[in-house]
Amino acid sequence: MKIVLMGPPGAGKGTQGARLSKIYGIPQISTGDILRETVTDQDVLGKQIGDIIGKGQLVPDELIVSIIEERISQEDCRGGFVLDGFPRTVDQAEALERVLPESVDVTVYLNVPIKEVIERLSGRLTCRDCGAVFAKEDISLCPVCSGPLFQREDDQRSTVEHRLKVYMAHTAPIANFYRSRNKLAEIDGTGVPEKVFEQIEREISQVVEG
Ligand code: AMP
Repeated sequence: MKIVLMGPPGAGKGTQGARLSKIYGIPQISTGDILRETVTDQDVLGKQIGDIIGKGQLVPDELIVSIIEERISQEDCRGGFVLDGFPRTVDQAEALERVLPESVDVTVYLNVPIKEVIERLSGRLTCRDCGAVFAKEDISLCPVCSGPLFQREDDQRSTVEHRLKVYMAHTAPIANFYRSRNKLAEIDGTGVPEKVFEQIEREISQVVEG
């Protein structure tokens, strides 16, 4: 099963991707996580990528496409994968079609109103060790792995607004790309994660049943 998860930043792609990965036994590939790991290297490329992420911009298509191409050619992706954060431009979506022998099975579009997304992002904390995210509460350690929680630089309000502009300009048009290929499942991404996941499972079972 090859699944693309799309939706604005903060729509719940990471949370739903983790569930899909567990249930279907396929890896979750988060380009944001892969890029953040590169940033910890602190070489020239790492610094450039850190700068781009910090400003809420997109890294160049060629770079991210080559990262994805290499990742999905690995053994653990033979049975499929969940892409979380890729593609983010129509050029990336076209590149993915060229790389895959067959198209993706389904693109799940998590629909969350922009106002709610801004509240979610500027109110969330991320675990520095395992990357899990939590709504800001009175906690300082990750309930999953006890790592320290922090606010991502790009979750600060001014950057969030810029990320959403980038999303509307470059990423939202991908919905039409997949809709025209009959690959788009639109999901109401508001509400508790369990309910959102039930909708996703219903859509995927329709794909499986053909
Ligand atoms: P995310 O964790 O998915 O919100 O991604 C964090 C940041 O990584 C984004 O704001 C971009 O700067 C960068 N990024 C992640 N995925 C992509 C992609 N497919 N294309 C370009 N930049 C990306």
